[in-house]
Amino acid sequence: MSYVLAKSQNDDIHNAGECGGAVTSIFKYLLDEGLVDGVLAIKPGDDIYDGVPTFITDSDDLIGAAGSYHCAPTMVGNIIQKYLYDKKVAVTVKPCDMRSIDELIKRYKIKKENIYTIGLNCGGTVSPITGRKMIELYYDVDPDDVESEEIDKGQFIIELKDGTEKGVKIHDLEMEGYGRRNNCQRCDVKIPRNANIACGNWGSQDGWTFIEINDEKGQELIDGAKNAGILETKSPADPAVEGRLKVEGIMKKMASKVQSVKYPLVSEMDEWNRCIGCYACRDICPICWCCENCELNKDYFTLEENSSPDPLAFQGVRLSHMSFSCVDCGQCDDVCPMDIPVSLIFDKLQKKYYERTGYVAGVSDDVKPPLYSPEKTEL
Ligand code: FAD
Repeated sequence: MSYVLAKSQNDDIHNAGECGGAVTSIFKYLLDEGLVDGVLAIKPGDDIYDGVPTFITDSDDLIGAAGSYHCAPTMVGNIIQKYLYDKKVAVTVKPCDMRSIDELIKRYKIKKENIYTIGLNCGGTVSPITGRKMIELYYDVDPDDVESEEIDKGQFIIELKDGTEKGVKIHDLEMEGYGRRNNCQRCDVKIPRNANIACGNWGSQDGWTFIEINDEKGQELIDGAKNAGILETKSPADPAVEGRLKVEGIMKKMASKVQSVKYPLVSEMDEWNRCIGCYACRDICPICWCCENCELNKDYFTLEENSSPDPLAFQGVRLSHMSFSCVDCGQCDDVCPMDIPVSLIFDKLQKKYYERTGYVAGVSDDVKPPLYSPEKTEL
């Protein structure tokens, strides 16, 4: 592992980028050199709360997707698996994205050799709906007047169209039930170290991106973009490297405090009893790939009209898979119409599974999960 500070040599990209525009520059290098068929990134849709996954094949279109969208908890692993399996792709990944990609590689659903993974450190995402509500309530601002948002030094900061900035401490927002999504608050994987590189603002200087180079492919990316004249790099000072690790440590400590204090154990049965069997949690899950062969579609699971699934049968099947697969992305919570804290229950089980086996989905290296069935491998 090694570290560099990097910034774009292209002024437009540098201005549009969140930090040094390094990520967009690396994408430009990959597209212009024909090393990838396309780039999978996030661009704003109707507004800045609406993060839309976009597949970019022309480097002139990259600028529209530069910047960080903190209200875009969109996952990309299942998009690659479903639609881009045979393409050469470069993709930005939050830690949970990278974890899901890692698990899908282990299941032969994504070809590792086909993808470049550009990791983004992540302190957490805010649900778009929560984002709009909290801006109205705590910033006294019409959410549509917000030009951009950022998370910096523990604050969620908005910039208005007239250039003024307003910030509120994330901790204060979270005490009132706003701020980052619940799974992000308890997430203790803040730097995606199994991505080729991990980029962020921790440890960086103004106008630069701090990059942790995690493997050979990551080093090739940096060298290639430098040689193509699109990226400038320099070494970070030792205190910056140490400071970054310190912030990571603090964030992880905060997460484990949240795990033990804010989200105590819930009674699964009470929660599952509200389930109406819409299967949205299964359908959105970035790890659930075998939908057409899913046990839950078999005749013996077919439900009477208007009846709820037997929670033990439905959630039992899900739990048995998720214990070794859940990457705690929280999308199942986002889509549950009955507000069941699905990811919390899976995460709880994942932690028990870790105690027994030492395995953490999408974090433990190349090995297969201990309960992964050989039949699935054949399938
Ligand atoms: P740019 O050149 O601006 O490129 C950024 C790329 O990220 C673009 O391609 C864009 O499409 C893509 N992107 C934007 N939003 C998302 C998203 N939600 N999901 C996936 N891809 C996206 N760094 C830290 O050091 N500490 C943090 O706590 C931290 N939290 C972050 C939280 C979120 C939700 C995000 C998206 C990023 C976070 N970062 C954090 C990373 C940081 O904000 C920059 O993205 C990183 O430094 C790269 O800067 P850049 O100028 O090189 O990127």
